[in-house]
Amino acid sequence: MGIKVALAGNPNAGKTTLFNKLTGARQHVGNYPGVTVEKKEGNCSFNGSDLNITDLPGTYSLTAYTDEEVVARDFLADTRPRVINIADASNLERHLYLTVQLMEMGMPVIIALNMIDVANQRGISINHELLSERLGVPVVPTVARSGKGHKELLAETIRGLDNVPPRPIELSYGEDIDSALDEMTQIIEENSFLADFCNSRWTALKFLENDAHMISKGYEHDKTTTEALKKIVGRVEKHLLSTLNTSPEALIADHRYGYIKSVLLEDVLSYKVDNDRLFLSDKIDKVLTNRFLGPIIMLAILFGLYQFTFTYSELPVAWFENFFGWLGATASAVLPDGYLKSMVVSGIIDGVGGVMGFVPLIMFMFFGISILEDSGYLARVAYMLDRVLRVFGLHGSSVMAYIVSGGIAGGCAVPGVMATRTLRSRNEKLATLLTAPFMNCGAKMPVLALLIAAFFTESQSTLMFVFTLIAWCGALLIAKLFRMTVIRGESTPFVMELPPYRMPTFRGLLIHTWERTAQYIKKAGTVILAISILIWAIMTFPELPDSQVQSFEAQRSAVMVNYDQATIDMAALEDIQEESLSEAALQLKNDLTVINAKEAQTALKNSLAGRMGTALESVSQYAGFDWRTNIALVGGFAAKEVIVSALGTAYSLGEVDAEESSSLSETLSESPEWNKAVALALIIFTMFYAPCFVTVVCIVREAGSWKWGLFSMVFNTIFAYVLAVAVYQVALTLI
Ligand code: GDP
Ligand code: MG
Repeated sequence: MGIKVALAGNPNAGKTTLFNKLTGARQHVGNYPGVTVEKKEGNCSFNGSDLNITDLPGTYSLTAYTDEEVVARDFLADTRPRVINIADASNLERHLYLTVQLMEMGMPVIIALNMIDVANQRGISINHELLSERLGVPVVPTVARSGKGHKELLAETIRGLDNVPPRPIELSYGEDIDSALDEMTQIIEENSFLADFCNSRWTALKFLENDAHMISKGYEHDKTTTEALKKIVGRVEKHLLSTLNTSPEALIADHRYGYIKSVLLEDVLSYKVDNDRLFLSDKIDKVLTNRFLGPIIMLAILFGLYQFTFTYSELPVAWFENFFGWLGATASAVLPDGYLKSMVVSGIIDGVGGVMGFVPLIMFMFFGISILEDSGYLARVAYMLDRVLRVFGLHGSSVMAYIVSGGIAGGCAVPGVMATRTLRSRNEKLATLLTAPFMNCGAKMPVLALLIAAFFTESQSTLMFVFTLIAWCGALLIAKLFRMTVIRGESTPFVMELPPYRMPTFRGLLIHTWERTAQYIKKAGTVILAISILIWAIMTFPELPDSQVQSFEAQRSAVMVNYDQATIDMAALEDIQEESLSEAALQLKNDLTVINAKEAQTALKNSLAGRMGTALESVSQYAGFDWRTNIALVGGFAAKEVIVSALGTAYSLGEVDAEESSSLSETLSESPEWNKAVALALIIFTMFYAPCFVTVVCIVREAGSWKWGLFSMVFNTIFAYVLAVAVYQVALTLI
């Protein structure tokens, strides 16, 4: 099992960076608070000892304000690990707030004084030996990124293993609270109340801090004691309010900060203040978050990201498309006619290929987002948008959930929904997680890209940008609607620190880009592959009855008789260039193609999927969707990528022998059922209808009730349908 070690620290202190360095793992490192939402485990050995390391989510405190804080605290209380507390040396005072609480909990703490490089650059110098002496715990200066100090840190971590755990430190919080604490501690000890969770003074403190999670734990454990404690808390609260006009919670925090100040006197922490020079980050922020310039620069940067993605990915996307075209042609030449060939070519290659073709585009997009995130700019975007989001009943932090879900296009709603854990208010969290799936995730991108390429070739990146804006407007308006109806309630103020700007490392960018792209490819290789085959099957079976097959056969024979057999070499028809055919042969060929296409159509319509699609036509016709589109949209419930692959399959069935393999976007732009109005309606529907299955599962988990999952499926689909019908009808009159 090894020695249990937990990494604890404020968001963005460098925990994950250190975790990755120590364990060789590749967890997501981000220059944005709240990136690690779940705890991660890994192993490492040092000087013959095995360590089992857990990367806890970042927390500012150990009072249950957010889910992360509960996760971190429960882990510490339940497993009692040694705690490496990572503190940002360039922000020491604030970061020690958590340290003090860890020590109040009685955890064996080793402080990693991280980002010592940044601190030094800013002219901050810290006497870590003296700091260690005053706090009574080891302090090791580190640079998580470079590996500096890691050995010393591990050495300190495994030193004195057999010693008894430290006594929890006992701060004084002023007379009123101290006497209440004594009284409560006595009650707690007499009843051995929550004794196996944490020490009695700490439990009393949590009650005074009004920690809802702790109080409900108390109710489960021992109702009478809980009520006795609450009575004392109520008394103290009333007293403090009338005498000092404050709450126990605030007073406790004040005293903790007072203690930290007394530790960080001049001789421990000193600034080499250089008044002529503002810190570089602050200087950059003067411009980038300026009231007027900020939003303009932000829009310009986001638009630039689109240009970058679409312009540079064009060539590799074409290579991918060609490759899959070639693969399909080769497979259909090599394989014998029959189900296998049909499944491989129409099901697997067209289905998976349609999705894989967009891998380069997704990669470019992720690369761009990684730059924004790692440099620290994304946090500024959250800060700037807070003012706007507030209007819609959301919070600045909602923006991260939106962006991760695809707010800059090409994300995924699954981590997006999970990112809402950083939101403190349940109402804001619900409103965010229910609307985040409206963003254009990586799976919707191919649908948009396909339809735009087919019908709006002139202005690809501009349109992509417009659809992103539409997604945002939709999400915000619906959030507002929810906040006014189903999830009413107060808003919470913006509390998020802005990380300093940092030069992204190329390695970090590559890891991020690859991590997210790999997820996409993995999905294409597993879920999408399985669904492509399933969809191929329901599009192929049941087959046309013999009588119908024979009737098409008869039609073909009839056409052939009309021509002079001698002048046409049937075998040559398939391979010869059109120009070199005689007029009669050309005519024959066209006639045969028409019959073949009709047969394929009839067969598809007769299949299980065709029947479903046709049944839905009575509703979907108002949005301009024919039965083939319906098939694709039904498949899209499972995963949005399926929309493209199912269309690919629907439009390639029966064309396996076609003289030239044209790409799906060409096929669509040439087919009579399609026009700009249909394309627009389909884009809008795809953007707003039910989230994919995996996202729904996440919504249920995060919202804590299956009702919200069901709600989002039903509400979104109806909403999307209404929008799509409106768009289609309006577009029809305009075109
Ligand atoms: P977490 O939120 O605590 O897990 O923090 P991360 O490990 O995600 O790191 C946040 C950011 O700080 C990333 O951009 C890291 O590359 C950067 N970082 C981490 N440690 C150091 C360090 O010691 N020095 C510098 N300059 N940057 C660091
Ligand atoms: Mg992290």
